[in-house]
Amino acid sequence: MATMEIFVGLSLHLRNEINWQSPKMKSVKSNIEQLQNNIPHSVKVVAVSKTKPVDLIMEAYEAGQRIFGENRVQELISKHPAMPEDIEWHMIGHLQSKKVKLLAPFISLIHSVDTLKLLGVIQAEALKAKRKIGILLQVHIAEEENKYGFSHEEIRDFFMEEKNLEYPDVNFKGLMGMASYTEDREQIRSEFNSLSQLFKEIRIQNFDKTDQFTELSMGMSGDYQLAVDEGSTMIRVGTLIFGGR
Ligand SMILES: *Cc1c(COP(=O)(O)O)cnc(C)c1O
Repeated sequence: MATMEIFVGLSLHLRNEINWQSPKMKSVKSNIEQLQNNIPHSVKVVAVSKTKPVDLIMEAYEAGQRIFGENRVQELISKHPAMPEDIEWHMIGHLQSKKVKLLAPFISLIHSVDTLKLLGVIQAEALKAKRKIGILLQVHIAEEENKYGFSHEEIRDFFMEEKNLEYPDVNFKGLMGMASYTEDREQIRSEFNSLSQLFKEIRIQNFDKTDQFTELSMGMSGDYQLAVDEGSTMIRVGTLIFGGR
């Protein structure tokens, strides 16, 4: 009986070893290294860890990754205390105003600010938390109607009228956008290009020679190379680092 148990234990152990080393399943560490090799040093990688467990995320941390992105508030606030303190947590998904207070004490950057109402709540919660909160304004660049974000015109008017000055505890770090879900590479490129033009225009008009408004968050696993070509400073990558969801 004892021999049998040892045998079963050993074969399970071997099976795990084999799975782990199978060439198809690359390690998180090598995925990150490969990604870093494909982009300039200046481009920041947000490792999108949504749906992934803490032990897998820790593999990325141990490989040197320090910026992690989540798209759900509950998941973000449960992972935050379970992981090391020097992580920069980014909120990348649609955010409801009533949940801002849960993130306000620690969030590094909110990529998905898509209404003035949300911006107002972030200002109020930043004041309460006695810290500045970094944000990106999300711009609607895709063809799909169901995506969130401001129009180019709304962004232009906002900065033309210097509305940003009404939010003194919000740190305007830049813009974010998501391209259409399409196989058409030229369409994706042109959507990224238009966002990049808008970003540069606002930067020169409102933030020239400042260290604000320096980030353009665009590009995911499927389109990050196009995004980087078009001037992205921050890519949000999940699948290529952690595998499919
Ligand atoms: C999930 C998600 C990503 C990452 O997508 P991948 O294709 O897995 O790289 C990037 N941005 C946002 C807003 C997301 O929700």
